[in-house]
Amino acid sequence: MQGFPATSEAFGAAPPASVLPASAMRTLATPAPSPAGRPAAVPAAVDVAVVGAGVIGLSIAWRLAQRGLSVAVFDRAGAGAGASLAATGMLAAAAEHEPGDPELLALALESQRMWPAFGRALEAQSGLSIDFRDSGTLVVALGRDEVERLRFRHDLHVRCGLATSWLGGPQVRAMEPGLRPSVAAGLFCPDDHQVDPRLVMTALRDAVLASGVGLFEHCAVEALDFAGGRVCGVETAAGRCRAATVVLAAGAWTAGNLLPAGLVVPVRPLKGQALALTATAETGTLSHIVWTEQVHLAAKGDGRLIVGATVEERGFDAAVTAGGLYALLEGARRAFPAIEEMAVEAVWTGFRPSSIDDAPILGATGVDGLVIATGHHRNGYLLAPVTALAIEALVADGKVPAVAHAFGLDRFGGPAVDREIENVELENAGLE
Ligand SMILES: Cc1cc2nc3c(=O)[nH]c(=O)nc-3n(C[C@H](O)[C@H](O)[C@H](O)COP(=O)(O)OP(=O)(O)OC[C@H]3O[C@@H](n4cnc5c(N)ncnc54)[C@H](O)[C@@H]3O)c2cc1C
Repeated sequence: MQGFPATSEAFGAAPPASVLPASAMRTLATPAPSPAGRPAAVPAAVDVAVVGAGVIGLSIAWRLAQRGLSVAVFDRAGAGAGASLAATGMLAAAAEHEPGDPELLALALESQRMWPAFGRALEAQSGLSIDFRDSGTLVVALGRDEVERLRFRHDLHVRCGLATSWLGGPQVRAMEPGLRPSVAAGLFCPDDHQVDPRLVMTALRDAVLASGVGLFEHCAVEALDFAGGRVCGVETAAGRCRAATVVLAAGAWTAGNLLPAGLVVPVRPLKGQALALTATAETGTLSHIVWTEQVHLAAKGDGRLIVGATVEERGFDAAVTAGGLYALLEGARRAFPAIEEMAVEAVWTGFRPSSIDDAPILGATGVDGLVIATGHHRNGYLLAPVTALAIEALVADGKVPAVAHAFGLDRFGGPAVDREIENVELENAGLE
């Protein structure tokens, strides 16, 4: 479950693109056409090539383009087709906070602070709404045992100076009358807001295109190019593109075969199943994001109620499973009985890019010309603005801002990769 340990062993998917309605996917899956109606040609050279058009890759590209750099983004599928279209869109710095990670909390709070301006700029540039909802999050306890654990969470929030308040059961039900009477207590996190990922991805796609970024969807990066001991571009399915900097933002796939031998990026896929229900005037819906120990429930402006999400160590197993759906529906019904009458609109699976310490990996790789932005785990939307700021600062000004210092790849201890790069250069030379 998002934010809590999984309480059921769930379980197994088609990528989100295959289960969201066709009307939602058409916009995101269409490659950027040239004026003649054909996909644009890959440019011979740019300042920055970004691998991956998820929320992280596109946010970085948008920001770099605003700095006046020429940028090309490549995705082997459509924009958002990785984890980004599978997300709920919560910006939950407080509700997501776990004990013992003050630097990650500082990063999350900084990004949360940046979100309103980031969202307004995105809406202004794209002309599209992203359904930013600032009604906050209610973390609720259903029954006595859960109250004790919620108190622990409240104490943690107080120690960290987070703006959360303790509510009794009647106060929670006054805020959300549709919740079951067994709701015994709650924590209100007034700054934990939400956006609609489908709208954010559509807006980001439009915003990067309007900023002059070359967006190449359905165009896989097959290899990195090396020369003079550094990365100097990418080889794609549609041709080679030289770049002064390559940013690897390939989500859960970042640790794959693009990396030079010897460079280890400790990121793995962490599977999450989720579903969307359709609320009606008869069923009613929720005004706040509601978290229980089992699920989160987030109502969107178009009437969908998102129920998420399982947390499963299953590699890239994309199955949507009976056990996963059962755990989600049972958890949702336990808090909000009206879901019984709602139609199921869609079910899906996504792969969170999770590092071994659950924190993002941002910045230099130890390989000249190669920068990384991945490992955003359960918080890619929350952390997108601060990630884009950090990578822009590194690429354009040569240094990462203080708030992101703790998140370098070097925290895992990095092996030297110079020899492997030399080998790759020799191989490349032999092939040409
Ligand atoms: C069920 C679920 C719920 C979530 N809920 C939330 C939430 O409420 N709030 C929140 O902040 N976060 C949430 N997350 C996490 C969030 O979705 C991720 O952290 C975020 O989407 C990661 O973005 P990304 O751009 O790094 O990766 P991705 O979105 O996975 O993008 C990576 C892209 O790289 C592309 N790619 C891979 N290899 C190549 C290659 N060789 N060449 C070209 N392209 C390539 C892929 O096609 C993909 O599009 C959730 C995740 C899941 C699964």
